Amino acid sequence: MRTLIIAEHDGQHLNEQVARAVTAAQHWQQPVDVLIAAAQADGLAAQAAALQGVSTVLVATDAALQHPTAEHLAALVVPLAANYSVVLAAHSAFSKNVMPRIAALLDVNMLSDVLEIVNSNTYVRGIYAGNVLATVQSSDAKQVLTVRGSKFSAAATGANAAIQSVTVPAAPEGSRWLAEAFNKSERPPLAAAKVVVSGGRALGSADAFKDVLAPLADKLHAAIGASRAAVDSGYAPNDLQVGQTGVVVAPELYIAVGISGAIQHAYGMKDSKVVVAINQDPEAQIFKIADYGLVADLFEAVPQLTAAL
Ligand code: FAD
Repeated sequence: MRTLIIAEHDGQHLNEQVARAVTAAQHWQQPVDVLIAAAQADGLAAQAAALQGVSTVLVATDAALQHPTAEHLAALVVPLAANYSVVLAAHSAFSKNVMPRIAALLDVNMLSDVLEIVNSNTYVRGIYAGNVLATVQSSDAKQVLTVRGSKFSAAATGANAAIQSVTVPAAPEGSRWLAEAFNKSERPPLAAAKVVVSGGRALGSADAFKDVLAPLADKLHAAIGASRAAVDSGYAPNDLQVGQTGVVVAPELYIAVGISGAIQHAYGMKDSKVVVAINQDPEAQIFKIADYGLVADLFEAVPQLTAAL
């Protein structure tokens, strides 16, 4: 049997998480194929074919796949899945939309956000916002799962896998893509940024995000994140929320400013390589996950840090 990876992309570039999914897929020690579903797939197929460890790139090209719906992708993948014992993708908003549908249509369990692959049907995944690690075993003949990209290294490039076309079924009726809206920002995208500076409720206003936090982020070429309390208070837009119900980040450096470190926030940032916390309460939970902690008033410490940088 073989392993199939459903690739996420923006029409031009493969998402960097695909290379991490390829590494995860090596655990089954069977051929790994990557499915590219797109309107124009040539460049994307070449990027996938270059990943070490990929046997075949399956290319599904159709104008309707410019903006595929989960229904269309599932209709494409389910017949292909007959040849595969494992169907996997990196865990993301994209895969959270598609993979449960595929699992349901195949009548198997969905194993989401897998942190470690113990053996061919046993996995470690977080529950209770990542506070408990559960080892789960699936008895399904087919495994459908998403893996946490930050837990797997990216597969190297330099390979030259075969590329093969597959038939695209008609898009199911009932739902169709209408529009998408992106926030335009000069900053790196939050989920992929190497440095993230996040602000919490303690910032106290949207102005403080702009006047206190943004200059520090500018110095570090960082993305800005926020706690849910900051978002709910209207200090930062919803798409900047880091955590269980927001974006999961794993940058080289995460600076938490005026954030208490609640488990739901920690879920979204605790895989960061280096965590720096600035909080005036020495008992704050965030100091338990921080590599470097500064007990200070953020309104003094952050401008000083920015000036020093
Ligand atoms: P607080 O907990 O109020 O902490 C503010 C911190 O700032 C305190 O530690 C305080 O000591 C410090 N402080 C105050 N003034 C200063 C100052 N002048 N200088 C320095 N430090 C100062 N939260 C998320 O972030 N992301 C999520 O995705 C998320 N999902 C959730 C899902 C569910 C189902 C639930 C129930 C909750 C979720 N939460 C989430 C909310 C979470 O439980 C916390 O309420 C939230 O993270 C708290 O945000 P905060 O740390 O900014 O605020």
